[in-house]
Amino acid sequence: MVERVACCVQGCSRTILFDTAMRTGGRCMPCVQKEADDERRRFVEANRVDVDRFAGVTDPVRRIELVHERPPRDPVVRDVPPSETLPEMVAKLDARGIQRLIDSTVHALAEERQRGHALARTLACLTRADLRDVQLALVRARDPYPSVVFRDASEVPTTALAALLDARDIDALLASHALSALAWTHNPRAVELFSRWRQHPPPWAGLLHISPDHYAHAGGWELSEVGTPRALCGEPCMELVAYGSSGDARAIVATEQRCRCGRTLTLLFDVQTARTNLPWLGWPCDRLVVPTCDACACFGTLFHSVNEDDVLTPIGEHPLVPDDAASWPLLPSVGLRLGAPRSPYFAADWLLEMKQSQLGGHPGWIQDPAYPQCPKCARTMCFVGQVACGDVEPNREGTYYGYACAPCRVVASNYQQT
Ligand SMILES: [Zn+2]
Ligand SMILES: [Zn+2]
Ligand SMILES: [Zn+2]
Repeated sequence: MVERVACCVQGCSRTILFDTAMRTGGRCMPCVQKEADDERRRFVEANRVDVDRFAGVTDPVRRIELVHERPPRDPVVRDVPPSETLPEMVAKLDARGIQRLIDSTVHALAEERQRGHALARTLACLTRADLRDVQLALVRARDPYPSVVFRDASEVPTTALAALLDARDIDALLASHALSALAWTHNPRAVELFSRWRQHPPPWAGLLHISPDHYAHAGGWELSEVGTPRALCGEPCMELVAYGSSGDARAIVATEQRCRCGRTLTLLFDVQTARTNLPWLGWPCDRLVVPTCDACACFGTLFHSVNEDDVLTPIGEHPLVPDDAASWPLLPSVGLRLGAPRSPYFAADWLLEMKQSQLGGHPGWIQDPAYPQCPKCARTMCFVGQVACGDVEPNREGTYYGYACAPCRVVASNYQQT
């Protein structure tokens, strides 16, 4: 029989082979590993040094570059974060600074794609600058990604982008990136192409899971029946913050009403001035409420119809939810309020990792665009706003999105996470 002995570490009940004990001084392998980890942690804590890569760097362009340069990982070195946020750095740029950042981005794209992509996102979401040089660099590399970089592109980059789809060796990824980018151009040429492809599907359409014109959702619009663009989101865009002063709009407000699952319904949005704050919606009255169930919305889209007295009635199919959903911890009802206006593209690329909660603007999809279909009229519903859970409770993941169909007075909410 193989001889086993007890691990010699106090409190450990594992047994080990006699041969192992001879090698490890009587300790089991998990205990050996734990000792090594503890030793490493003590070493790191004793030798920790703070490195401030931003110290003495006053040029805002260089500071922005530094944000996106990941220093080599050294467990002993603690990277001191900059004193201001990325949007604050970008706000300091004058026209010359923005042009220098564009040049730096084009350069980075040729050198190190990931860093180039991060800089390109920064320019696309936090400035309204013409990004033609960056767009053309991405097309030349046959890598039209991140798609938001093509927002409001002019004729030349739009035509160059469309030409990528004519390549003989086109694959599904390139087709999908090129179509999303085309959607972001909002250019009449892109509208015309999507309309043509809807009537006559091109050969590469077979590579995709959805028809080419459906990619317009990536850019926040869709083709109407007559082939004109219909916006699914719009301006102004306003941040939602925990301590905002304006009572015009609130997010994450507790209600007395219950969801079908038994949990308390939360108002994802309660906008008192919907007509002025959300003009693209065409909401027929001043107040707009969008309820959600923080559990059920994770499993599908929740629809409610709203009457003149703001009474909410659930409609449409309710998502299937696990039995224990009623006992999950509730999203805390912090009541976000309206903060400052910002670019509609601010949160359009969630990989920029910024404060994402907002009313209006472009949604920051974590997965694919998910504008729901109104259960009454079957039209695509328009985006109202979004709440990132991390802005409500630290370390809570995912984002809730709110929508409305004004003619039907139907509101909806859903959720995405990584
Ligand atoms: Zn042990
Ligand atoms: Zn529910
Ligand atoms: Zn409708």
